Amino acid sequence: MEKTNSFVDESHEELKSAVRDLCRDYPDKYWRELDEKRAYPEAFVQALTHAGYMATLIPEEYGGAGLGVTEASVILEEIHHSGGNAAACHAQMYIMGTLLRHGSEAHKRQYLPKIADGSLRLQAFGVSEPNTGTDTTQLKTMAVRNGDRYVINGQKIWISRAEHSDLMLLLARTTPADQVKKRTEGLSTILVDLRQAVGHGLRIRPIRTMMNHATTELFFDNLEVPVENLVGEEGQGFRYLLDSLNAERILIASECIGDALWFLERTCRYANERVVFGRPIGKNQGIQFPIARGYANLEAARLMVARAAGLFDSGKACGPEANMAKLLAADVSWELANVAVQTYGGFGFAEEYDIERKFRETRLYQVAPISTNLILSYLAEHVLGLPRSY
Ligand SMILES: Cc1cc2nc3c(=O)[nH]c(=O)nc-3n(C[C@H](O)[C@H](O)[C@H](O)COP(=O)(O)OP(=O)(O)OC[C@H]3O[C@@H](n4cnc5c(N)ncnc54)[C@H](O)[C@@H]3O)c2cc1C
Repeated sequence: MEKTNSFVDESHEELKSAVRDLCRDYPDKYWRELDEKRAYPEAFVQALTHAGYMATLIPEEYGGAGLGVTEASVILEEIHHSGGNAAACHAQMYIMGTLLRHGSEAHKRQYLPKIADGSLRLQAFGVSEPNTGTDTTQLKTMAVRNGDRYVINGQKIWISRAEHSDLMLLLARTTPADQVKKRTEGLSTILVDLRQAVGHGLRIRPIRTMMNHATTELFFDNLEVPVENLVGEEGQGFRYLLDSLNAERILIASECIGDALWFLERTCRYANERVVFGRPIGKNQGIQFPIARGYANLEAARLMVARAAGLFDSGKACGPEANMAKLLAADVSWELANVAVQTYGGFGFAEEYDIERKFRETRLYQVAPISTNLILSYLAEHVLGLPRSY
């Protein structure tokens, strides 16, 4: 089986094929070697940037492509479908939403053209903290106004790409939690110029993880940031964050779809080629049924991702669809990852087949950027009217 056909697939063929061509220069071996060294895919990110894909969502007047989340999804899906991993750079796409919707005209003119031409990277999103985890509104990092500066103290964890980004969008508390009426108030989004911050109040500690992800821990010790780096209104940061989250869920779901397609194609090929007991293992229903079931689930998840992206791009509410897209797509990529290991047998564990690498990579999406449990809680409470469980 070469490329999976699907009616969801019919549009954007040109874009897909251009991304596929670019990815051909970054084959399995490229990703495998980086994985071994836990190294950042610098050459790949450069190529993606120069081809303009990292500026997909930036409006044309600021030098970008002016396209939507649908097109961004196509790009990310195809990167993962080709065996690569867009985690090294995808955040630039969804962080963009906060800057586009809430940044001042001066911010947009200052940053967007440079992000579009690749001279500036906005790839780090500083939200998670070690002591508060999923309970984002309780985060402790404080940005205290002192004249024309914010003085920032606190700690963040799992902040990916901080070592490979020029800018970070930081979510910090600007009003202490005991002085706000609602727990979602008093949080602000602030752009931190990492080039100036590191060594002057910010320390970055890389965290080695089970897959190659360039994630880090950040320590803020009286880091000073100009007040003009505040994005939008002070105290409204949580609301801005929510705006970005639907885009993030849809884009990550697209990466999961790409992973699922990659697993499906490799698995079908292997099941046809591997001969045991004098016949291809794919002739056994015990091998083919899980693959067929995974395919059906994949097609269903793809429909939900396409629907969520369509709603997002037409400016309509898409919270339930974006969450369901992420849930279903992450589930199917994990399902097909397991099917792949089972079909490959012992070879599924050998590094040279890449199954184990993609298996480790796609496992992340059950936990981050939002865990499956929290999506289920959202659907139960906000869509189905069940009591809040936490
Ligand atoms: C590789 C990696 C990269 C990441 N990149 C970034 C990044 O760039 N920026 C950033 O800000 N964050 C990032 N994250 C953080 C990620 O978003 C969090 O790990 C995730 O949201 C879960 O938070 P936590 O790890 O603190 O888990 P916890 O909040 O401690 O939760 C642990 C487990 O308990 C479950 N749980 C908690 N509360 C409930 C509840 N009420 N009901 C049911 N289950 C519950 C969770 O679902 C989870 O399974 C990254 C994480 C990883 C691992």
